[in-house]
Amino acid sequence: MAECSAALIDHAVAQGVPFAREYAGYLNNRSFGGVQVSRTFYARGQTGQQLLLGAYQALERQAALGKVSLYTRHEMLELVVIDDKAKGIIARNLETGKLERHAADAVVLASGGYGKVYYLSTLAMGCNSSAIWRAHKKGAFMAGVSWIQFHPTSLPQHGENQSKLTLMSESLRNDGRIWVPKKAADDRNANAIPEEERDYYLERRYPSFGNLAPRDISSRAAKERIDAGHGVGPMKNAIYLDFSDAIKAQGKDKIEAKYSNLFAMYEKITGINAYKEPMLISPSAHFTMGGLWVDYELMTTIPGLFALGEANFADHGANRLGANSLLQACVDGYFIAPYTIPNYLAGELNLPKPDISHPAFEEAEKTVRRQLDRFLHTNGTLSADYFHKKIGRLLYEKCGLSRSREKLEEAIVEIRELKASFEKDLRITGDNTLNSELEKAGRIADYIELAELMCYDALQREESCGAHFREEYQTADGEAVRNDDEFCYVSAWEWKGVNNEPELHKEPLTFESVELAVRSYK
Ligand SMILES: Cc1cc2nc3c(=O)[nH]c(=O)nc-3n(C[C@H](O)[C@H](O)[C@H](O)COP(=O)(O)OP(=O)(O)OC[C@H]3O[C@@H](n4cnc5c(N)ncnc54)[C@H](O)[C@@H]3O)c2cc1C
Repeated sequence: MAECSAALIDHAVAQGVPFAREYAGYLNNRSFGGVQVSRTFYARGQTGQQLLLGAYQALERQAALGKVSLYTRHEMLELVVIDDKAKGIIARNLETGKLERHAADAVVLASGGYGKVYYLSTLAMGCNSSAIWRAHKKGAFMAGVSWIQFHPTSLPQHGENQSKLTLMSESLRNDGRIWVPKKAADDRNANAIPEEERDYYLERRYPSFGNLAPRDISSRAAKERIDAGHGVGPMKNAIYLDFSDAIKAQGKDKIEAKYSNLFAMYEKITGINAYKEPMLISPSAHFTMGGLWVDYELMTTIPGLFALGEANFADHGANRLGANSLLQACVDGYFIAPYTIPNYLAGELNLPKPDISHPAFEEAEKTVRRQLDRFLHTNGTLSADYFHKKIGRLLYEKCGLSRSREKLEEAIVEIRELKASFEKDLRITGDNTLNSELEKAGRIADYIELAELMCYDALQREESCGAHFREEYQTADGEAVRNDDEFCYVSAWEWKGVNNEPELHKEPLTFESVELAVRSYK
């Protein structure tokens, strides 16, 4: 990934991505959480969006040339496996409800992460785990499933009927200082709290990294302060991100030049002018380091099934640093899969093209149809969203920023109860045509099963590492305690059927050029 990063920037620039530049025209870069040097190329708080626009334009060009067929508003609902190889998918046309069979020599899943399993997250409403989960149930292993990144600079939840949280760019931590009132339950306005009564807890606990401590550490430290009663804002679930010192030191113009688009977005959403008052921020589920297990060629345990980007578990370990995800998604798609997929296809030469009338397509379509019919005819009283909120809250409390054996064991029991209730109490209005409630039901059924696997994964790993913080394994001052002697492996899980315990496969990790060491940001 690192090797391809420079080529990727050139590639994206050629697509028209407007990376930030210095006056002389050289690419500019800035610092992100967990690093003390400026090394991240960026497009002013919109890097992902701009990369997406570049990719879309390049894709549209290929579509216009007739080299790519686009099936927009389609959702993959099942993987088709013939003779143990991935040979196609069943997709639902989201506008008509019609099920379609698509045959292929290989299948690539690039369906993103599953942070939305927590209900409230920084992800778009449509993000879901269904593609990878259904592939998992067809035999693809899932790895590092409980390694979830909580982003420290999301906007806090402001009410019970909210479906999504908005992310403020991590780059703000370059100049913003994070603090909470020293006194618990302090109701004063932020500007009325004198300097000596503020706790700049990241600077206090991590003097060398301060406000740029990595995401896992910053998020956990925020939760610790909030849980101890120092949270601020209407729901007492936030902390302050304060630019007053940066404005004093650098002048408002400089801060405006760097972040005006983000400040404008913040004001539009909250009505607060962050040049005058600190921003309110809070940790939120954001990125999934876990996903489908893949080998070096990005192939899953099902031959012919590839997983790219956030959908796979590769590259980040238990803690992803800022900016590396877009890098991974682009490198996987532009520079790795185009070379590794042909390695697989070479072995498929001269084999008959898969036919959509094959019994495996018939069976896969039946499985999808049966599930959709079941949702439509359950006739309970509770909406799909009700179950999504329930599973999200349960995971946040028991398999979220921190975990413990006791909470995880409780969670597994509660998830099974929730699953039973989902099966008899769900109500889906409408029919099997254009019906977003029906789509949601399928995604939530998958989230419930995925949540259970997350808890098994977190329970089995009796150590703290990266985003996985087991309360039993911490130092006296709340830092993670790793156990490399016993847990230096990838946990890859095999599906063993509904209500059965998944089977763990261990892939040992070996380190040749770097030595494993405990991180210190003090
Ligand atoms: C608000 C926000 C800000 C971020 N900022 C940064 C950043 O600055 N730097 C960084 O490195 N990373 C950032 N990330 C993370 C990064 O954007 C993602 O990890 C990355 O976009 C993942 O790319 P992907 O192509 O793997 O998946 P995605 O971009 O999530 O794309 C997956 C696509 O698959 C579709 N899909 C899913 N399931 C199905 C299905 N069953 N059938 C058909 N289609 C399906 C989805 O609709 C989506 O279009 C950010 C993430 C968020 C949410």
